[in-house]
Amino acid sequence: MEHSMTLEQKQRAFSELREVKETFAARGWFPATSGNLSVRIGDMSEDRQTFAFAVTASGKDKSVSSPEDFLIVDQHGRPLETTGLKPSAETLIHCEIYRATGCGAIFHVHTVFNNLVSELYREEQAIPVEGVELIKAFNIWEEDAAIRIPILPNYADIPRIAELVSEAIVPRVPGIVLRKHGIYAWGANVFEAKRHLEAFEFLFEYVYRWKLLNKQG
Ligand SMILES: [Zn+2]
Repeated sequence: MEHSMTLEQKQRAFSELREVKETFAARGWFPATSGNLSVRIGDMSEDRQTFAFAVTASGKDKSVSSPEDFLIVDQHGRPLETTGLKPSAETLIHCEIYRATGCGAIFHVHTVFNNLVSELYREEQAIPVEGVELIKAFNIWEEDAAIRIPILPNYADIPRIAELVSEAIVPRVPGIVLRKHGIYAWGANVFEAKRHLEAFEFLFEYVYRWKLLNKQG
C-alpha cells in the first residue's frame, strides 16, 4: 500500500490540528512546549501496518501559529516529505496507538491533574473512576459505570514505553496515562478525540478533589 494523499487531505489535517492546538493552548494545556497532537490522513491498510498521519513538530511553542507547526509521517514516525522539521519525540507512541486501535486522531497533554492522579494510583497501575456522568463521553452508558484508566511507567526511552502500549490499552477506555507525565487520548476523528480528552481531564480533576475531600473528612 502506497502513502498516497491529496493536497486537500493534507490541508484539512493541518487545519484541524491548528484549531485544536489553539483551543488547548488557550487552556494552558501545552506548558513549556510539551504535548503533541496528531490526525491520521487517509485509510489504513487492512492489517493496520501502513498508514500516515499529520503530527506536531518537536519543540515549538504551541501557543503561537507558524508555517512549521506540523509535518506528515508514516507508520514508523518517519517524515514522508523532505523537511527540516522533526516530529515530536513521542510520535512512536502515536504509531502504536494507531496500530492497536485503528483510531483517527490522538491528543497528548501534560496537566497538573493528570500528573497528580497518575502518582496517586501508581501502585494500582490504573486510575479508577466510578459513576461519574462524564464517563458517558466514552459511549459507556450503563448506570454507575466503573472504568480504570491504565497508567504506564514513564521511561526516558520512548521505544520502551511504545512496546507496552498495545497490551495496556483497555478497549472501551480511549486513553492511557504515563506516570507523572501526561495523557494520550484518542478517537475516531478530531471531534471525538477532543471530547474524550476533555472528559478524561474532568474526571482526573474530580478524582483528585474527591480524594482530597475524603482525606480532610
Ligand atoms: Zn509528553
